[in-house]
Amino acid sequence: MNPNSLQTSIVYLKGVGPNRADTLKTELGIHTYQDFINLFPNRYIDKTKYYKINELQRNSSDVQIIGKIIHLKSVAQKKGSRLVATFTDGTAQMELVWFRGQKWIRENVKINTPYVIFGKTNFYSGTFSMPHPEMELVTEHEKGVQIAMQPVYPSTEKLSNKGITNRVINKLMQQLFIETKGHFKETLSTSLLSELNLVSKSVAMFNIHFPKNQELLAKSQFRLKFEELFYIQLQLISKNILRKQKIKGFLFDKVGIIFNEFYNNNLPFELTNAQKRVLKEIRADLGSNAQMNRLLQGDVGSGKTIVALMTMLLAIDNGYQACLMAPTEILANQHFSGVKELLGNLDINVAILTGSKKKSKRKIIHEQLESGELHILIGTHALLEDKVQYKNLGLAIVDEQHRFGVAQRSKLWHKNEKPPHILVMTATPIPRTLAMSLYGDLDISVIDELPPGRKAIKTVHRYDSNRLKVFQFIRDEIKKGRQIYIVYPLIQESEALDYKDLMDGYESIARDFPQPEYQISIVHGQMKPVDKDYEMERFVKGETNIMVATTVIEVGVNVPNASVMIIESAERFGLSQLHQLRGRVGRGADQSFCILMTGFKLSAEAKTRLETMVKTNDGFEISEVDLKLRGPGDMMGTQQSGMLNLKIADIIKDNDILKTARYYALKVLKDDPLLQKQENSIINFTFAQLVKYKNIWKYIS
Ligand code: ADP
Ligand code: MG
Repeated sequence: MNPNSLQTSIVYLKGVGPNRADTLKTELGIHTYQDFINLFPNRYIDKTKYYKINELQRNSSDVQIIGKIIHLKSVAQKKGSRLVATFTDGTAQMELVWFRGQKWIRENVKINTPYVIFGKTNFYSGTFSMPHPEMELVTEHEKGVQIAMQPVYPSTEKLSNKGITNRVINKLMQQLFIETKGHFKETLSTSLLSELNLVSKSVAMFNIHFPKNQELLAKSQFRLKFEELFYIQLQLISKNILRKQKIKGFLFDKVGIIFNEFYNNNLPFELTNAQKRVLKEIRADLGSNAQMNRLLQGDVGSGKTIVALMTMLLAIDNGYQACLMAPTEILANQHFSGVKELLGNLDINVAILTGSKKKSKRKIIHEQLESGELHILIGTHALLEDKVQYKNLGLAIVDEQHRFGVAQRSKLWHKNEKPPHILVMTATPIPRTLAMSLYGDLDISVIDELPPGRKAIKTVHRYDSNRLKVFQFIRDEIKKGRQIYIVYPLIQESEALDYKDLMDGYESIARDFPQPEYQISIVHGQMKPVDKDYEMERFVKGETNIMVATTVIEVGVNVPNASVMIIESAERFGLSQLHQLRGRVGRGADQSFCILMTGFKLSAEAKTRLETMVKTNDGFEISEVDLKLRGPGDMMGTQQSGMLNLKIADIIKDNDILKTARYYALKVLKDDPLLQKQENSIINFTFAQLVKYKNIWKYIS
């Protein structure tokens, strides 16, 4: 076969033709031979086993039976009719049923002739039945390639309606292997094959479609999964290397007066080892000539803010401005007052810019930014507006990065001719290798240690029927001088309803906690920013005992004296959101509590979420569960990337292979960044194809 023949249109494969080619194209995106061999089975069924009808279990999944049809009849039903065959294998009888394509079956099926049938069975009023079985004459079956495991290919309703069943796909695949003689060009280097003891491409391809035995199947799956992940990692890592070479950053080579003065006089506590390590990593970036593009992961309360501030001081020491962007007004305000307090009497100009700032005040800020008078600008999305121009922005920090899209992040890049250093901070921990893959263009630092002296938050799940007890607990805590959060869900689609829940809740709390003994703050999204700030302020200052709020307080808010977090309708929150909310307490020295309130009716998934919250405080552990429950696509929202559209590997289940793939991709690129060495020529070629086609399974030719 000539080397380009895998690019042959699938229409030419014997048994396909224009109609099937069309269906394959629209339903599975298969255009060429190559696309077709890369249609990987979802799973395999043990084909060495034949069942007897009298040994079928009620819940048996796919079974294979040999027997004969002895009778065929049409049965009228509410809408149209169904075709029912009586099928026997000598041990008992069962029914085969067709709702679609009855005419074809009636004309083609042979009575009293041995068939191998295959499919799922149902059990209904004493009889087993198999809807739309796959059927093959025993004589034909014996002629086919005998395999131990039957691959099950991805399918769609349209495919099966058009008669392109799993059986047909299998037959076509056999035909393709006959035409190509099953020789496929190797796509990994000899050294990788031998070092990892991988089977060759041709062996892998054959056994993924026609497994000779379990062991070869496992080896073939490993090889193809490794390959898929390896090339994605190669792409991510080389992109990162290239960026560092191409994009020169501002050189911050000084640790100057301001940083040192802050460190010696203003730092309110000893940094944790993790904070020190991260600062070192950041300083290495800033002094390296390349542009920093770093993700800082740290659980809620791990102390990211001080790291951000000290990084900004480095920028100022080197003659540059810095900005800090937060997702909400409350959080921006809090950063602003926190930073001002930490800076104390240091001679640094800080301003805050949010949507609610008056025009005249904004104008002053714009001017001071452009003149360079202003050193640090803190704010919300307002920082991204075109009017906001800096004299020399050297560093941009984005807090709670998962709230911002990639597009917004990239806007920050273009505030200067030369992009500023970028530090994005997130409290949504994601497993490290996964983070590396998803944020492939970012370097990653992790604060994996909480400041000393924190007591673990006690978390419990309580039903609404226990509300009185919970209220008594709140009273006791308030008596001890503590403050309480009570949070209600706010979900966009049912905003009006949620708002009503919040207000009803507020009223009942106000009844149970009457003034003047108790003071209550309320904060929600429909309030004017000034009113929100006022209410927030009162709580921060300790003038109110209870803060009733929606999730606006989810991120970042820091009130160390608040030690109880009550989450209403907790079943409606996602895991990462619950963890974020819980992180609002446990910030002081007192024992803190989180109470998850729900009704009795809970879905299995909601139960898992609640149990996970009760069981652990570890954000990374929680993120693993979250990932399993929701899958990476949902979890990352708009952070789509190649990692989420895998064809054979599974980002969760194959995490170990992912680690191996990343390790080898790094190793190869470290030794040979441009893949120019002879020994890497296969990788280089395959990689070039991948970049060209933007799909790693388009690369063999
Ligand atoms: P997050 O990472 O969630 O943004 P913060 O930066 O808000 O966390 O820090 C949480 C709290 O911990 C703050 O009150 C902060 O002052 C305090 N903190 C941070 N680092 C330390 C430390 N090394 N020692 C003691 N307290 C610290
Ligand atoms: Mg924070």
